[in-house]
Amino acid sequence: IRRPPRSTLSSSSAASDVYKRQKMNIKLCTETFNQENPASLKTYLAQGGYEAWKKIIHNNIPKSDVIAKIKNSGLRGKGGAGFLTGLKWSFIPLSKEDKYLVCNSDESEPGTCKDRDILRYNPHSVIEGMLIACYAIGASVGYNYLRGEFINEQWKVFNEALTEAYKMKFIGNNIFSSNISIDIHALIGAGAYIVGEETAMLESIEGKRGMPRIKPPFPAIKGLFGKPTIINNTETLSSVPKIMLNTDDWYKNIGIDESDGIKMFSMSGHLETPGNFEIPLGTPFADLLKLAGGVWKNRKLKAVIPGGSSVPVVKGDIMMDVKMDYESIASVGSMLGSGGVIVMDESTCMVSVLHRISRFYYAESCGQCTPCREGTGWLYRILSNIIEGRGTSKDLAQLDRIASQIEGHCICALGDAAAMPVRSFLKNFWQEFEYYVDNKRSMVS
Ligand code: SF4
Repeated sequence: IRRPPRSTLSSSSAASDVYKRQKMNIKLCTETFNQENPASLKTYLAQGGYEAWKKIIHNNIPKSDVIAKIKNSGLRGKGGAGFLTGLKWSFIPLSKEDKYLVCNSDESEPGTCKDRDILRYNPHSVIEGMLIACYAIGASVGYNYLRGEFINEQWKVFNEALTEAYKMKFIGNNIFSSNISIDIHALIGAGAYIVGEETAMLESIEGKRGMPRIKPPFPAIKGLFGKPTIINNTETLSSVPKIMLNTDDWYKNIGIDESDGIKMFSMSGHLETPGNFEIPLGTPFADLLKLAGGVWKNRKLKAVIPGGSSVPVVKGDIMMDVKMDYESIASVGSMLGSGGVIVMDESTCMVSVLHRISRFYYAESCGQCTPCREGTGWLYRILSNIIEGRGTSKDLAQLDRIASQIEGHCICALGDAAAMPVRSFLKNFWQEFEYYVDNKRSMVS
């Protein structure tokens, strides 16, 4: 396993400025990234790996205490929704029926590549996090569902780590001679973005076509095979072991306001050194930009999509004053989402970017809901007309109208994901769209 490129490491001189402000040098999911053989069990054990799991089993720590600790830590889901992890775990019924844990490693949101690196360079943290989560919710089986495109590397690395953990008897029957038995399986998807939606993932695991279910019932009550199920993101579960090992307020004391702890951000686009960076929540965007080497060729920052392609775009000058936490990003009309930060410089044609984004959601709609199935097609076709010089002045209002009719009218979040970029691109860059329609060409080329 090769070592990650420099830009995926969490410690650099610019990063140390950030950590200094937080009075600590913290690594959670990226802890093994800069080690030799980062994915090996030996490396993980040398970093205190599986100590939290041993502590829980050897001390027979009650499940409710594990849930309470995660709840009090303020750990929020890192896949996009940002829901409190411990609170989610507490929704699981106390009944004796079968329960399941699913790790969502179907990382497909354009601009996001953090889970990919966790699976490649720190897979044992995901396994340990899954074991602790299984224990806390009373599940004896956990599934890690990896996106289809991960088959060549992440899938192999994760399976090798699973084999190592089974050999050491961290997983399996009567773990550490206790009466706890947990099995973990890895599954690979077939390449559909929509199975990253939690209920579509459950359908896919059950061997059906991956299409979202209508909620309620929520998976915590009726999930996989009709049983109570918790679905957590890879980064979320990878964060769990260290939180369990540290003092009760350790994680909560990092971060800012309602955004506790740290988060990985995938920095992509017009940057000198794009990559993954793990930083305390509340770190100024300007500092994160520095970690990624600044805007490519020292150009002017035009716009940023701060949380994966499905969240609203923010103008560059506004973004420079924003902190990277849930509340601060919401205050400028966008979302932290999956932490996929797409940076665009002054040479970017916003019409072309939106055209590309709309094509993606049109292709990935599962087709169940009419507003999403038809609406994403209309958005893409109208934007294609504009790009090809056939746009009219009525098209811009039409785009906004269609997006508003998709938003909030669908079964799952893909409809909103397709609509929100359209509305925010038009709102923030209306003049550029108008120019394209009037002149049949981009304002920037
Ligand atoms: Fe399928 Fe789109 Fe409806 Fe989601 S919103 S269920 S992707 S049609």
